[in-house]
Amino acid sequence: MTNPPALSARLRGLDGSTDGWSVFLRARAMIAAGTKVTELTIGEHDIGTDPAILAAMDAAARGGHTGYAAVPGTDTLRTAVAARVSARTGVPTGRDNVLITPGAQAALFAAHMAALDPGDRALMIDPYYTTYPGTIAAAGGVPVAVPTRSRDGFRPDPATLAEHAAGAASLLINTPNNPTGGLYERATLEGIARVVTEHGLWLISDEVYDTQVWDGAHLSPRALPGMAGRTLVMGSMSKSHAMTGSRIGWLVGPEPVIARLTDLATATNYGVPGFIQDAAEFALAQGTGFEAEIAAPFLRRRALALDILANRPGLRLLPARAAMYLMLDIRPTGLSGLAFADRLLDERRIAVMPGEAFGTSAAGHLRIAMTVEDGGFAAALEEIAEFARSLS
Ligand code: PLP
Repeated sequence: MTNPPALSARLRGLDGSTDGWSVFLRARAMIAAGTKVTELTIGEHDIGTDPAILAAMDAAARGGHTGYAAVPGTDTLRTAVAARVSARTGVPTGRDNVLITPGAQAALFAAHMAALDPGDRALMIDPYYTTYPGTIAAAGGVPVAVPTRSRDGFRPDPATLAEHAAGAASLLINTPNNPTGGLYERATLEGIARVVTEHGLWLISDEVYDTQVWDGAHLSPRALPGMAGRTLVMGSMSKSHAMTGSRIGWLVGPEPVIARLTDLATATNYGVPGFIQDAAEFALAQGTGFEAEIAAPFLRRRALALDILANRPGLRLLPARAAMYLMLDIRPTGLSGLAFADRLLDERRIAVMPGEAFGTSAAGHLRIAMTVEDGGFAAALEEIAEFARSLS
């Protein structure tokens, strides 16, 4: 027997594990073994997809939309997404600017495939959503984390960005932000636009939380002067419509880029199921009131957190401006985020993500997903605050 051929270097380079996920994995194992754990880890609603959307999906499938669907997306869904993007950002956007993808994750991969040649440096802002390094590596790029600071609200500083930008091919940003709950203001986005323009980078803008804004307004950098030609935006039905498992999102960009990415989609996922696309179209047609209802629990729980966590020793709640997460600075306790999260799980049966799971800039912080019902959430916050006090 000869040895099997070697796995590609590209796949060998995709090591998704980090120490930060150990807390999550231990929590899941404890739950599976029957221990009650309050899980504030993964960014997923505690409600399922609305029955009306499921009914639309069912009707579409029973009505025959079960064959191969158009690869870039159905004309009607692409048109609906284009209209939505035009209305929300003011940037004229047509059907040919839109590629429907199996979630924003696939759009992130597609965008980096469009922007990178093998070995190109691809910038991302630290702290970052956990799939980013793997996505860039899968597209053949070299992920480069640009550090930020807690005291700046984890917003990138243009001078630091410029230091990293020379010779890079792309910059990936995420506003509203996971994991920080932050929102970039116009000045920050203008600074980013200046740097990417000066250095000739693509800007890849992950905007999947754009319907979850609590303080201020979401601004898409594609709307800044001169940016539409170099910006690739990802959107998704996952967070705005609680459709995480349906795997449907989109990429918005210049028409020639979308045309080539349609060829890439043909060579990879070969489109998104037609009945899912029809359900997404139905969901989008429900309007902003429906989206506000989906977002409402996070707004309520954020208010609970602002109240419960105010002036508590051992921790500081960072400004929670958007998305379904809270970021706590627990450095006053003297523990790392990982050590705090490990002990919180063992001693209080509460699972949170350590900041170290998202790069190095959020070390000594915790990310709390606001994804359990209000009573349980408030009780968990009280417990976390009490635990931090006991340590400080
Ligand atoms: N981008 C960010 C910042 C996320 O937090 C997530 C999911 O948690 C995604 C992208 C992936 O979204 P989708 O479910 O549309 O693939």
